Amino acid sequence: MPTYAYQAVNPGKSCDRCQQGFEIIQRIAEPALIRCPHCKNPISRLLFAPAVVIKGSPMTETDRKIKGYEKEGKWSHAAELADKEAEKTKREDLKVRALEDYKKAGYDFDKHDT
Ligand SMILES: [Zn+2]
Repeated sequence: MPTYAYQAVNPGKSCDRCQQGFEIIQRIAEPALIRCPHCKNPISRLLFAPAVVIKGSPMTETDRKIKGYEKEGKWSHAAELADKEAEKTKREDLKVRALEDYKKAGYDFDKHDT
């Protein structure tokens, strides 16, 4: 689960905790907090790296392998791995990547006359 950072909207009125900002672990689906759980003053969510990274594509062992294949120009290897991983993890970004790698490997889906 990602960590989100919050900070007081009006630091002058708020408690020490939200004045300095605090981090809290939330599910992605959970709505953003609008009030500090301590002093009930308004707070706003800060956008920062961890949340963004988790939403996009976390760097896994498989990602690293795919990247390695891509670096070496082994497009079909990269594509197959990305494809498999996309199926397993339901990750859209990997599906797209697999398609791109397949294309680079010489498979041209657009020109198939099936
Ligand atoms: Zn507070």
